[in-house]
Amino acid sequence: MVDFAIPDEIRDISEGLNTFIEREILPLEEANKALFASERNLYDDAGRYTEKHAKLRKQSRMKSAAAGFYTMFGTEELGGSGLGPQALVYIHDRMNTRFGMRPLVHKVVIPSEFTNALTPILTFLKPELREQYLPGIASGEKTLCVGISEPDAGSDVYNMRTKAVRDGKDWVINGTKQWITNAPYADYCLLFAVTDPERSRQRKGGITGFFIDAASRGYDASNVIPVMGHLGGDTGIVTLDEVRVPDSHVLGKVDDGMKVALAGINTGRLAMASICAGLAQWGLNQAINYAKVRKTFGKPIAEHQMVQGMLAEMAMDIYASKNMLRHCAWKVEQGEKSVKEISMVKAHATEMLCRVMDTAIEVHGGMGLTNELGLNVIYRWARTMRIPDGTSEIQRRNIARRLLEGDTEI
Ligand SMILES: Cc1cc2nc3c(=O)[nH]c(=O)nc-3n(C[C@H](O)[C@H](O)[C@H](O)COP(=O)(O)OP(=O)(O)OC[C@H]3O[C@@H](n4cnc5c(N)ncnc54)[C@H](O)[C@@H]3O)c2cc1C
Repeated sequence: MVDFAIPDEIRDISEGLNTFIEREILPLEEANKALFASERNLYDDAGRYTEKHAKLRKQSRMKSAAAGFYTMFGTEELGGSGLGPQALVYIHDRMNTRFGMRPLVHKVVIPSEFTNALTPILTFLKPELREQYLPGIASGEKTLCVGISEPDAGSDVYNMRTKAVRDGKDWVINGTKQWITNAPYADYCLLFAVTDPERSRQRKGGITGFFIDAASRGYDASNVIPVMGHLGGDTGIVTLDEVRVPDSHVLGKVDDGMKVALAGINTGRLAMASICAGLAQWGLNQAINYAKVRKTFGKPIAEHQMVQGMLAEMAMDIYASKNMLRHCAWKVEQGEKSVKEISMVKAHATEMLCRVMDTAIEVHGGMGLTNELGLNVIYRWARTMRIPDGTSEIQRRNIARRLLEGDTEI
């Protein structure tokens, strides 16, 4: 029987996190209000975080780690609290509903991707390396990026060209990774390269994961790719020129990297969808409040039927997405694979947030377009999220494949 009930313990953690943000993080933002007032202060000419910005993000991350929130979704094996999918969905949703997209909260206090902090990919790190690397990652002192995509390999992962070749007890890696979240700032990269070109050509393995120190000779991630009108960002390019990596740094088994790369993809997609659900609820709340106070033609716009229609459309969209999400998290928590459901949830939630924020902006009229209210930044972020972790089309491809293979139960 489907049970969406959230245990009191998880509600308490969620409330504790939100209280922690109010007490510890918002004052930090307030104390640096001038910095956050303009993107020009946040990025340097090359699009990288300015020193002060990067320092504040780290401070915020480390405070969260010290309070036990940053690692709560990491597995216990890696030193996390091991909270499951239902908790993940609830906590992200509540946090984003309360705070919207704030600079020292979003993607900082708790990792929003499966590609940073105690990502399940790290369960493939050799036990002898864990003591050396995990404490720094868990404390928020060090961060990660995951390098899979390349200029000619996005949806088509097996088209990757980055190669790793054995040389004695080392591997030598050459290639370029593109669109890598957090690459310009990461201390370590979980990188995937072709180790058996023939198997990779046949799409039957031949790709291996590596744990690489970003300080390695020949590793460069200085290029930032700003997207959606931002002056800078966290997405970048990694180039590898004869980077030497010890054999002990192979993640999991040689040639079995796709299994490693896909570890935690479910959690990542669920997290992304729950952030979307929370942000959409935040946007709806803003629109309701504004509609009650903004007057035209002698009455609050909330009394115009077409505005009411917009609010109702937003609510229906959010309700559908949240229920898909809760149901899917419940299924995953029961140990069901839920491949098509995860794809449905990822595609629906990211597309839903685009629609909802578009409408929230419309309800606000000209005010909705200003930088002041924070609506447009969520709208732009929502648009970007339809691409990573599998585009909307790739999710539909997954869904259709499962349906045609006989997994037709909805
Ligand atoms: C903000 C952001 C963050 C990212 N972070 C990371 C990261 O941390 N690590 C990482 O490795 N990668 C990351 N990526 C890369 C991301 O995974 C790829 O951009 C994505 O998989 C799409 O690949 P592509 O951009 O090469 O588009 P393409 O694969 O070239 O696709 C172009 C278009 O064709 C469509 N298409 C492609 N194949 C099919 C098909 N078979 N059927 C139907 N339609 C198809 C796509 O849906 C899309 O509309 C990130 C991307 C972005 C934008």
